[in-house]
Amino acid sequence: MNIVLIGPPGAGKGTQSKLLSERFSIPQISTGDILRANVREKTPMGLRAKDYMERGILVPDELVVEMVVDRLSQDDCARGFILDGFPRNVKQAEALEETLDKSGKKIDAVIGFEVERRELVRRLSGRRVCRKCGATYHIIFNPPINIDVCDRCGDELYQRDDDKEETIEARLKVYEEETLPVVEYYKKRGLYKGVNGIGSVDEINEAIVKAIG
Ligand code: ADP
Ligand code: ADP
Ligand code: ZN
Repeated sequence: MNIVLIGPPGAGKGTQSKLLSERFSIPQISTGDILRANVREKTPMGLRAKDYMERGILVPDELVVEMVVDRLSQDDCARGFILDGFPRNVKQAEALEETLDKSGKKIDAVIGFEVERRELVRRLSGRRVCRKCGATYHIIFNPPINIDVCDRCGDELYQRDDDKEETIEARLKVYEEETLPVVEYYKKRGLYKGVNGIGSVDEINEAIVKAIG
């Protein structure tokens, strides 16, 4: 099963991808996570991506597309995958279609999260992420048992630099201008299924599983 999750920053893509990945035993491919790991390790890709990410704008397509094509060619994607945060513009969507075509694959469903702006800002500004295992928390909606400590692995939680208010605005604008056209792209192909992103994590998960069918 090949699934794409699309939605504004803070909509819950990462949270839901992890649950779907466990449920269907297929990998979550988060371009944001892969890029942040590269920035942390100061790889050539990370060094090129850092400035864009800090400003909340998209990293150049050629970098991200190559990264995804490479990831999709790995063995663990043979039975399916969940793309989280890719494609983010129409160029990327076309590149994805082309690379899947070449290996006789296709997207089965594109799940779109519908969440209003005020709620996105609330979610992003309270988000905390584990440095080690990547688990995601929210200081009010999904707090860890001990403040700033990961329930799952005990490591330290941190706030992403781009989850500060000024950068949040830039990211929301990029979503509206560059990623919303991708929603249209998949609607035209009959693949898009919108899901209400407001509600408990479990409720939204059920709605997604139903939408996938
Ligand atoms: P969120 O889903 O919370 O908005 P991500 O972790 O997906 O954040 O992305 C963080 C940053 O990484 C983006 O603001 C952008 O700079 C970069 N990024 C992630 N995915 C892509 C992509 N598909 N194309 C270009 N840049 C990307
Ligand atoms: P995205 O990957 O789309 O940027 P995340 O999954 O990281 O979004 O979620 C953003 C923030 O909102 C996190 O702090 C997360 O704990 C919280 N969150 C996720 N789903 C919900 C929900 N259904 N209700 C309230 N908060 C949520
Ligand atoms: Zn952890």
